[in-house]
Parts: sequence; structure tokens; C-alpha cells
Amino acid sequence: MVETDHNKVVDIPFLQGGGEMGNLTRCYDWSSHSLGAPQNWPQSLKTTLSIILNSRFPMFLWWGPDHICFYNDAYRPSLGDAGKHPSILGAPAIEAWPEIWDYIKPLMDQILAGGEATYNEDLLVPIYRNGRLEDVYWTFSYSPVIDESGIPAGVFVTCTETTQKVNLVNHLIVSEQRFQNLVRDASVGIIVLIGENLRVEIVNEAYGSLIERTPAELLNRNLFDIIPEAEAYYRPLINRVMLTGKSMYLYNQTYNVSKNGKKISGYIDIIYQPYREVDGSITGIIALCQDISEQVEARSGVERALEQLRLSKEAAQLGTFDMNLDEGTMEWDERCRTLFGISHDNQVNYETDFVGGLHPDDRDRIVGVINELFTNPEKKGNYDVEYRTIGFEDQRERWVRAKGKVYFLENKPVRFIGSVLDITEAKRDEIRKNDFIAMVSHELKTPLTSLTAIIQMLLAKNKDGKGDFQTNALMTANKQAKKMSTMINGFLNTSRLESGKLIIQKTKFDIIDLLEEIVEEMKLTYPGYNIEFLNCEPVVVYGDHEKIGSVVSNLVSNAVKYSPVSKEIRVSCEILKNEVKVSVKDKGIGIKPYDLEKLFDRYYRVENENTSHISGFGIGLYLSAEIIERHNGKIWAESKPNEGSTFSFSLPI
Ligand code: ADP
Repeated sequence: MVETDHNKVVDIPFLQGGGEMGNLTRCYDWSSHSLGAPQNWPQSLKTTLSIILNSRFPMFLWWGPDHICFYNDAYRPSLGDAGKHPSILGAPAIEAWPEIWDYIKPLMDQILAGGEATYNEDLLVPIYRNGRLEDVYWTFSYSPVIDESGIPAGVFVTCTETTQKVNLVNHLIVSEQRFQNLVRDASVGIIVLIGENLRVEIVNEAYGSLIERTPAELLNRNLFDIIPEAEAYYRPLINRVMLTGKSMYLYNQTYNVSKNGKKISGYIDIIYQPYREVDGSITGIIALCQDISEQVEARSGVERALEQLRLSKEAAQLGTFDMNLDEGTMEWDERCRTLFGISHDNQVNYETDFVGGLHPDDRDRIVGVINELFTNPEKKGNYDVEYRTIGFEDQRERWVRAKGKVYFLENKPVRFIGSVLDITEAKRDEIRKNDFIAMVSHELKTPLTSLTAIIQMLLAKNKDGKGDFQTNALMTANKQAKKMSTMINGFLNTSRLESGKLIIQKTKFDIIDLLEEIVEEMKLTYPGYNIEFLNCEPVVVYGDHEKIGSVVSNLVSNAVKYSPVSKEIRVSCEILKNEVKVSVKDKGIGIKPYDLEKLFDRYYRVENENTSHISGFGIGLYLSAEIIERHNGKIWAESKPNEGSTFSFSLPI
């Protein structure tokens, strides 16, 4: 510890003042130092030290052949908290600065040899301080101190530590670099335009690709020299942002620019932001541009599709419903509401609006169909029904055709969506037509019954005349009358079915007996055909004997009708687990897969060159299917064109 001693100031006036370092220099025990007592120092050293100690600018001095160190208070912070201060005062430079000796020695030598003063800016000269070697940046100048004999005796150093400044600059460079990288890699287009002419200062690939230019093609050029066609619209907007300093958001902007005569256009969202200098002045603009062409296209595609859907729904007068079974909500559009005769805008309710709006005669059937769909995912949720509504408010009865689908999630119904169509007029026409057919059939049935009775009477009378013309003519007449009767019965049954008057009268009977009976009858009716019956064990079913019989007759008649070449027909029966399966197989014209699906629809007939000359009304299979369904059975067909068909039905035993 060096003691302060103000008394000595009188003896060594050039060491007056100078704060802590002045004091330390004064109190230093120079008597045992190679420089000797300060009073005897050369004037040049005294003067220089006086300047150094009293300067507020950081200064350092290496004096004499040993480069003895002096420094002032302003320099002191550069030495840090622990290490050199104050020990290097009076020390030879080689001891004070071993870590940079190799660097400073040549500089000192150069100055002491009469060389020019040096000046270095922001130079990295790491020094040992604060207990470690630190990277320290300096701006410094070495200049000679000339002694009385006119030769350089010391090196005078003025310096400032610029570590903070350099770090700040480095930091700025790094953040500038980061900013540049950010801009370069951004997926959104970024362009920075500077000055009146909107010179491109920074631009990224994403921006360039919007107008099919590379950043190199754009940099340092005036934006509207490159895309003059965009100036009229965008220049005033940019000017406004630069003038007001307020950001501007522009959405869904169309842009049209051209390159080499090629038009480039699309949609963008733009944000214009003022570009401010450090002093706050606005010198340019930053534009962020996001290409949204695809979204706009997609959106307008969806809008177009929705509009088309709306128009076609309107044209077809289709209503829609959407039932969310998870949330227990139901949406009906305007048309759907009209069909149920309701005008309120409230949320519709399944029980009150839908079930309550069904005609009482159709209610159980439709609710049953829906419940069945909800509880049996294996039925694939396909909904296709016709029903009547009662018209809650307008009291108008309407016929509705509804089609839809139930969607399942893990076998749980979650959504039921579909459409409804007003078929009142078509239905009324159909009812009128049915009534007419029923009436005509009924009227035809009476004379036909008496005609058949007369023919059979005549046949009975003529039973000995086998083979003669009269008997043959009567047999043909009988056959034709039977055909006609089947046809008329078909029409009658259809109209009964439609009006809900088809009555199924069930009794227990052995189906084998019935099959044998029909096969025998068919053999007589179609003597040219080889109708074979593959028998099975007797099996009792509970059903309408006559109607099941008509189903079998219809299948065999069809097998005959649609087998113009092969005459082989086989009726077979098979007892399965809880049911009996009856099949009629032929080797006729067969059916295409497309027709197979629709065969059991009412009035459906296959129209092609094979069937054009075969008469029929397309009601036989429809009726058969309805009859089998009313017996809780199944009916289906398997067929290949030109190979033949097998029609089967099964009934519970
Ligand atoms: P129809 O025979 O009076 O036209 P159906 O309802 O009995 O009416 O039959 C519907 C259609 O199914 C027929 O028009 C015919 O094209 C086809 N079809 C029915 N049975 C057969 C069969 N055994 N072979 C080929 N096609 C058949």
C-alpha cells in the first residue's frame, strides 16, 4: 500500500494534481528505482508526466530504455479491477505487459528509432485483467517523447478502450446478418424500398418469385422501373404510408405485372410499413407480401361449387336435412321446412317436427326404418323412403321422397344427412293410374273368369277328343286365358299393395308339396321345357300359401320366358339353419350386373336386343319381393349374361 504524502508536492511541482495516479506517482519510492528521485528526472519526462496526469483523456507513457510505465486516472479503468493496477506503475513494460510484449515491442522500437507516430483504430489487443486474459479493443496512437538531447526517450500513448463500441458494432453486424437471413429465408415476400424513387434495398426470393424475378434482378433498382404497370395503383398507397407513417393492410389484392411480354397475375395480401431511420425519420417502406392465389382460387372454387349446388337444389326443388346425433341437433333448410308445413325459424326437433309431422299411416313405418338404420351399422345407413307429411301449419298433405345416409363412428350413429323431394304430384298421378289399373283389372277379371270356366267346361266335355283340332284350340285358349289371368292378378295385387290392401293370410303348409304342385302345373303349361325339381325333406313354413305359390310360378315363368334356347330349368330347395331356400335356375339370356341391382324395382324391365320382343310389365319380381319381405324372408338373383340366372328366396322355417 502506497501512503499519500502531500508534503512532497512542494518538492516535485510537476506531479501536482492528477487524482489517484498523481498521488500514487508522487508517493512512489523512486529513490530505490532506476529512474532515481523525481526532482532529478529530465525536463522532458517531467513535462510529459504533468500533461498525462492532468489530462482527462486516457494516456500512458513508456520511458527510458526499460520502458518504465506511467499512466493516468483516465487510463486506469482499462486495467480492470484486479491485476495490473497499481503494480505496473514504475514497472518495466516487459514485466507489465508480458502478454502483449511481442506485439508492442516492435511498435515501441519503431517509435524510439525515430519512426513516425502510429494510429490504430479498434484494434484487438487482449490484455490480462480482472484475473483473466480479456479481448480488449483499442483506438490508440504511439508517439515519441523527445528528450533534451533531441532523441526519442519515451513512447507516449493516447488511447481509448473501444471494446464496448466494437462489441456493439459486432452485435449490430450479427443482428443485421440475422435480419438479412430472416428476410432471405422468409416464406413471405419482403422488400425494402428506399427514397423517393423506391430503390430496392433489400428483397428476398419469395418476393422475387411473385413477379418471377430473382433478387439480383431487383436489388438497387427502382421498383417501378421494373414493374411500371403496377405504379399507377401502388405508388399513391406507398406515398401515403411514407407521409403518414401509418402501416397499411391490403387484403386480397389482385396484381398484374408482366415479364418479357408474359402476363403474371395473382392475389396477394400486403402489409406496408414505414421504414424509419434511427432518428425516426421515414426514408422508405417495408412491404410484406403473401401470395394467396391458391387460397383465393380454392375459395372461389368452393363458392362456385356451393352456388352450383344451391342452384341445382333450387332447380330440383330439393330440401336438405342434417341431424347431428352426438349433439342432438337437427338442421332443416327452407324447403325441408315447407315440406313439413312449418314456417318457424327455430331449431327443428326430431320428435315434434319430424315424427309429429309424418302422416299417422306412415309414422310407424318411417320411424321403424330410421331406428333400424341407427341400430344396424351393417345396413350401411342407406335411407330411401317415401312418406306423407301432414303440413303442421298449412294442413296440406304432401308426399315426400327422402334419401340420405347415416354415418357411424365406432358403430355409433353420429350424423344423418339427406335430401327430401316433393313428389306429391307424381304420387297423385300414380295413385290415379293405380286406381285406373285396379278398376280395369277388376272389370276384366269377371269376364275372364267366366271365359276360363267356359273353356274348361268345353275341355272337360271334349276329354275324349285328344289331339283333334278343337281340343288343341281349347288348350291354347286355356293357356292364354291363364296368362291373362296371371297378368291381371299381378296388376290387381300391385294396386292392392300400393294402397296397402294386399292381405297376407298365413297358414302352416309344407313348402315341398307346394313346389311339387307348381312344377307339375308348369310342366303341363310349358311342355317344351325340361323343368326338373330337386326335392328335399318336407319342411313346414308359416305363410300365405297362394302368394308364395305365385312367387314360385312367377320365377319359373320368367325362367321359361327368358330362356329362348336352352330348355333346362331346375327348381331346388335346401334346408338351411332356420330357413328354407328355394331356387329357380335357368340357362337363359342372363342379366348384367347393372340390371341385377334394379330387377326388383317396380316396373323395371331390362331393355336390350334380347328382351325387346319379350312382353311384360316389370311387376312380377317387384310383387314377389314385396310378398317375400312380408314373410320376413329374402329374395335375390345371381346371373351372368348369356350363361343363365338363378333366382332364390328364403323363408324362415
Ligand atoms: P317382366 O318379366 O314382366 O318384365 P319381372 O318383374 O318378372 O317383369 O322381371 C323384371 C325383368 O327382369 C324382366 O324384364 C327381365 O328383363 C328380367 N328377368 C327376370 N327373370 C329373368 C330371368 N330368369 N332371366 C333373365 N332375365 C330375367
